[in-house]
Amino acid sequence: MVTAIAYGRPSTIDEAFELLARPSAVVLAGGTRLNGDTSPRQVEVVDLQALPLHGIRSEGDHGLRIGAMTTLQQVADDDLVPPTVREAARRERPSTLRAQGTLGGCLATGDAESELLAALLVHEAVVHVESRDRSGALSLEAFLDGLPLEPGHLVTAVALRTDGSTAAARTARTPADRAIVAAFARTVQDGRRIALTGVAPRPVLVQPGEELDPTGDFRGSSEYRRALAGVLITRVLEATS
Ligand SMILES: Cc1cc2nc3c(=O)[nH]c(=O)nc-3n(C[C@H](O)[C@H](O)[C@H](O)COP(=O)(O)OP(=O)(O)OC[C@H]3O[C@@H](n4cnc5c(N)ncnc54)[C@H](O)[C@@H]3O)c2cc1C
Repeated sequence: MVTAIAYGRPSTIDEAFELLARPSAVVLAGGTRLNGDTSPRQVEVVDLQALPLHGIRSEGDHGLRIGAMTTLQQVADDDLVPPTVREAARRERPSTLRAQGTLGGCLATGDAESELLAALLVHEAVVHVESRDRSGALSLEAFLDGLPLEPGHLVTAVALRTDGSTAAARTARTPADRAIVAAFARTVQDGRRIALTGVAPRPVLVQPGEELDPTGDFRGSSEYRRALAGVLITRVLEATS
């Protein structure tokens, strides 16, 4: 189990990077994953809760910016957030964990089955990442490809587009279970985006008809997942055309 040997709660980003420069520093956001980490290591916790990384605001025409420390429940509840993203946030976990878990934690974890990440992919999400000497923004797909985050780096916010027509479809063992495969599509004037969970080590953007090579498990073989992906993509494309 992780043992905290130090705890810091910075109130400025600069202070956070100072603390994160220590060799055993780890970022603590909502703690839903970190507190359950069973690896035997000693860490210096850098708690982000006092940083100004909370909240959801509109940005320009059809843009939205969500701070990394915004909880999944806040994402699910906010009328500014597109309905498919709200519903995907609601599906991430039970309400007790949604009230604690943050969008930044969800991104840094990059779970293969995260419907929220797939929904953000079709909404052209851009992830803002900062380190002591650099700040930048990269597409969510590039961010997920680059995981795990390098030590000393912080996700500070996510920007997304809110326009277009979107749809989601999923198949799970029960309605409340995690999806075996979930598909999201969003159509805008100049094109469309399709994202899937359950077919790759991370949620991915795909093209219709693209060759997929999912890994099977007890919930669905590789062939079953491939077939599901085809059916669900057809459904979401029909719903957004
Ligand atoms: C019962 C249970 C079920 C879960 N189910 C799922 C699930 O279905 N899907 C899923 O994806 N996860 C799941 N998780 C894991 C976890 O809840 C999520 O990944 C969650 O979104 C993490 O958010 P958090 O704010 O609690 O992160 P924390 O636990 O605080 O941190 C998680 C990781 O992200 C890093 N991190 C957090 N915020 C930032 C940031 N802003 N910048 C850089 N690094 C950061 C931390 O250092 C840590 O390595 C589950 C956890 C539990 C306890």
